[in-house]
Amino acid sequence: MRVDKFLHQMNVGTRNQITQLIKKGRVTLNAQRVRTGKTQLNPGQDLVKLGEQEIKYQVHYYYVLNKPMGVISASTDTHQKTVMDLFNKSDYRSDLFPVGRLDKDTEGLLLITNDGDLAHKLLSPAHHIKKTYEATVTGKLDESVITKFAEGILLKDGTQLYPAKLEILNYNKMDDTTNIHVQIQEGKYHQVRRMFGAVGQKVIHLQRIKMGTLAIDEGLLPGNYRELTQTEVDDLL
Ligand code: URA
Repeated sequence: MRVDKFLHQMNVGTRNQITQLIKKGRVTLNAQRVRTGKTQLNPGQDLVKLGEQEIKYQVHYYYVLNKPMGVISASTDTHQKTVMDLFNKSDYRSDLFPVGRLDKDTEGLLLITNDGDLAHKLLSPAHHIKKTYEATVTGKLDESVITKFAEGILLKDGTQLYPAKLEILNYNKMDDTTNIHVQIQEGKYHQVRRMFGAVGQKVIHLQRIKMGTLAIDEGLLPGNYRELTQTEVDDLL
């Protein structure tokens, strides 16, 4: 691979910036100054440095974002703020995308990656990746709703869902609402909102707290993100 292509893929700068860095003698390959962007290297084997900083070879990137309300789960949009607009310039890459979607007014765990194979696996209905949501819903839920969820909800449009695990956390007398956890194994459009609609309740607040083996960190505030560790990536696969 050409050294200029490598540096571009590793997000070091624009093509022009990289040409300038090479011209200024800032780039070394195995301790030798690089004189032209055409110089060939073996990614992952050769040592590339920009000044004193090693430029490590990385193909796939994985982040967990705590999506805030009001932004959309898309890579780009001409009108609305997207989850990718929350990324710092230094982490942003045009090939990153969110794995699946959360509604504009849903908060919580969203995986962002450029690994299409992993995304495909996590989203494939065949894999039944479990997703857990914390929600506040209207009214007081009784135990019969737990059974209905466990048996598989029939949505108003006739869609039969797989069994879901509903846990009632507490009832708020003040505003007649209930806090719950629900674990689902599909990812249909507005699924959690429609499930509660099917039992006559409305979701007031919705947050995803877990996807597969990955749980949202308590300290990760809405709008913030962090890179996954290698173990977290391995566990997801
Ligand atoms: N279910 C919903 O209704 N909305 C989401 O954003 C995610 C799951």
